[in-house]
Amino acid sequence: MLSDTIAAISTAVGESGIAVIRVSGPEAIDGVGRLFRSRLPLTEAESHTVHYGFIIRPKTEDKLEEVLVSVFRAPRSFTTEDVVEISTHGGIISVKRVMDLLLELPDIRLAEPGEFTKRAFLNGRIDLSQAEAVIDLIRSKSDRAFSVALKQVDGELSRKIHQLRYTLVETLAHIEVNIDYPEHDVESMTTAFIKAKCDEVTQGIEGLLRTAEQGKVLREGITTAIVGRPNVGKSSLLNALARENKAIVTDIPGTTRDVIEEYVTINNIPLKLLDTAGIRETMDIVEQIGVERSRAAVLEADLILLVLNGAEPLHEDELQLMEQLQGRSVLVLLNKIDLPQQLDRARVLNYFPENAVVELSAKQLEGLDHLEDAISRLFFGGELESGDLTYVSNVRHIALLKKARQSLADAYEAADAGIPIDIMQIDIRLAWEQLGEVIGDSAPDALIDQIFSQFCLGK
Ligand code: GDP
Ligand code: ZN
Repeated sequence: MLSDTIAAISTAVGESGIAVIRVSGPEAIDGVGRLFRSRLPLTEAESHTVHYGFIIRPKTEDKLEEVLVSVFRAPRSFTTEDVVEISTHGGIISVKRVMDLLLELPDIRLAEPGEFTKRAFLNGRIDLSQAEAVIDLIRSKSDRAFSVALKQVDGELSRKIHQLRYTLVETLAHIEVNIDYPEHDVESMTTAFIKAKCDEVTQGIEGLLRTAEQGKVLREGITTAIVGRPNVGKSSLLNALARENKAIVTDIPGTTRDVIEEYVTINNIPLKLLDTAGIRETMDIVEQIGVERSRAAVLEADLILLVLNGAEPLHEDELQLMEQLQGRSVLVLLNKIDLPQQLDRARVLNYFPENAVVELSAKQLEGLDHLEDAISRLFFGGELESGDLTYVSNVRHIALLKKARQSLADAYEAADAGIPIDIMQIDIRLAWEQLGEVIGDSAPDALIDQIFSQFCLGK
């Protein structure tokens, strides 16, 4: 049992308006109560109430800090245990003084990273996919990624997994009946039933897997390489998108010698923009390094923005580049439309479809909305706002879903091949277990420890 009481600073370390110390476990209320002076003793406080008072040194009764203390009694708390939260003035000294006093109490120890969430999981208040979503919440880089994680904390993915598992249990029960009463001779009917159920669950799994690619994009952002010859306007574009001047813009070809990164959000899609040095052969050593890095950036990019200067004819390098980029996710940006145009658009259309070509002016900030639309279309089929936020984005979940899909495919094949039903039963049970691992049913202890160790302290 989790009989000990844990405490940690739950807000970020450093200067802030307030800081919160969280205490959870059987000694939480008594323990904090020994250090807290208020109108009412803390031990008499009702659940979900906030109390104004002072933290004192128990030996001398000196007032140490003015605080607000919130009480959440078991089981109606984040961990399902008694939880006390102490809000102190921000600043390292103030929080640390209170923390030190707490840790001097006999039954309270410092929490490990993620231990509060782990207790919520072990006490059955949230499942594993929800706990992992808490990590995602803390780390999310965009509004949308945040909403997705929040939905998962709320148990949206868990509910879908539960539904699929329920169907599998039903199927197993059906098989069980058939095995127990073979004289009913329902074998052929059962085979058809099993195949139908395997199909149903497989489709459910595939639906979840389809969201995985989008989930990854929302979580990590689309890694986007901006490429093109020197002076076509790559840095200007990066700046226009970031709406601040992080990259240096100049008239000298080859100024962008290194890869510059910038996070932006376009129509709610997070992009990690990489401005690369012009891709071309050069004798300049420093620039050569930049070119090497930009090649690497292009290789790992999810999206490539190829910038061309509309005010000049196409260059031999650019024809080569368009050739090399075949088969990748590319948007061609015809930049500098504010100048007289000299570029032969038809030649570009030999390489890329019409809807992959966007005309804009990075300098005049024209046409950026078309670029934004094109990116939305490319990654979300333009349906980003459809509202269903159940995205599978966690690699562990994706791997398990794929395994479960395979187990069901095995069961289905066995059914087709006329293999005895108890063999199919094994595959279906396996699929049921694999889905269970997503939500932490049948997850091994080592895995659980590893997942919770990713949390920051105090969560
Ligand atoms: P990079 O070498 O590809 O990064 O190009 P820069 O962004 O440094 O731009 C090179 C030059 O082109 C600068 O003088 C920019 O002001 C200019 N430039 C960039 N975009 C446009 C545009 O849309 N219109 C015009 N007229 N000039 C631009
Ligand atoms: Zn540049």
